[in-house]
Amino acid sequence: MVQNYVRRGARGTAVVGAGLAGVTAARTLADHGLDVVVFEKSRGPGGRMARRSYGAHQFDFGAQYFTVRDPRTRERLPRWIRDGVVAEWPLRLASLRLDGQRPQGLSGLELLQPSEPRFVATPGMTALCKHVANGLELRRRRRVVGLDRTDAGWMVISEATTNGEHSTDEMRVDGPFQHLVLALPAEQAAQLLDLAPDLRSHAAAVCHQPCWAVMLGVAEPLDLPFDGAFVDAGPLRWVARDSSKPGRPSAESWVLHAGPEWSSAHFDDDPADVCRALIETFEHVAGRSTGDPGRFRDKDATELAAGRPPVAAHRWRYSMADDPLDGGSLWDEQLRLGLCGDWCAGSRVEGAFLSGLSIATAILTAVRRSDAP
Ligand SMILES: Cc1cc2nc3c(=O)[nH]c(=O)nc-3n(C[C@H](O)[C@H](O)[C@H](O)COP(=O)(O)OP(=O)(O)OC[C@H]3O[C@@H](n4cnc5c(N)ncnc54)[C@H](O)[C@@H]3O)c2cc1C
Repeated sequence: MVQNYVRRGARGTAVVGAGLAGVTAARTLADHGLDVVVFEKSRGPGGRMARRSYGAHQFDFGAQYFTVRDPRTRERLPRWIRDGVVAEWPLRLASLRLDGQRPQGLSGLELLQPSEPRFVATPGMTALCKHVANGLELRRRRRVVGLDRTDAGWMVISEATTNGEHSTDEMRVDGPFQHLVLALPAEQAAQLLDLAPDLRSHAAAVCHQPCWAVMLGVAEPLDLPFDGAFVDAGPLRWVARDSSKPGRPSAESWVLHAGPEWSSAHFDDDPADVCRALIETFEHVAGRSTGDPGRFRDKDATELAAGRPPVAAHRWRYSMADDPLDGGSLWDEQLRLGLCGDWCAGSRVEGAFLSGLSIATAILTAVRRSDAP
């Protein structure tokens, strides 16, 4: 049921999604004097640059780090570092593979020389999005469920959410907005694009891979010669000692990521079973015990017991795009509707940033054109 009708100036821009792409687009437009409102279904900015804390342990359970390859990101990086929200992760990198079936004590380990610097947001990956979003008008816990187009502009229909997933029936309509940007994973954008079949077909062609992530607290630091490793063993593809990142609490905290094929095949598994599969594989390839094995064998393994290091799993429906576009963003001048997100610019954190810049540039160009005498 629609309860409120909020009218805004017709020059405004609505941005749906407060991941790095959305907040970068909104920030750029706001810095150029445009009126911007951001809608986000979760309780704050960040999206897949996600952080969670359990007691003294802290985990980046989505994006692990980012690389800087484009001149526009290289230009922005010193400012982020100066502002204290980004730091280089002096990562001891390795690759780990399964070498036979027996516990192997690191016989499949190869230490790698990082080919380029890796950066992280501090004190957690979410911090960069929060920093960029600072001062923006952000409608938190609003899931956009529909869009309408009137003569005056775009109307945004949203419902309240309690934790990003479960909706209540409190609906509202905001608008009209002159411009609309969807800064969402392609699949989620496609669901909102009934009024823009061309854009919808571009979004529908891109597919994000699922990823199971396990957050593993350990009582004593693991004696391992690496802090992050690409893994080729059973379900595992990546492990990282999050507590080795700059600005993190010292409590030993590991993040384990499953590969896309395994995550897809085990998408509906019990989180306790996922914890067991990933942790047992990690212990096997690393040749180390991470604690009492009974703690993740119970059905309620992800309910965290007081006084014990945490073990928890998170299922990402969308992690990285399989076949990303490389144009930066998609903009329909006639509809004044744009799409951005990592999948529009080669995927990953840097792609999300560049995509946000790209859609903001398209809108600023359109505004200047319509303002021209
Ligand atoms: C497990 C995992 C590991 C990764 N590792 C790395 C890595 O090491 N390095 C790297 O560079 N990248 C990595 N990535 C990818 C990186 O996280 C993304 O590329 C980047 O964060 C995407 O930003 P975005 O703004 O495009 O999208 P998102 O961060 O997904 O932002 C979209 C936002 O829209 C919101 N939203 C969705 N639907 C609605 C709706 N209907 N209404 C309102 N709001 C909505 C979401 O809550 C979210 O906040 C990883 C991702 C995952 C999941």
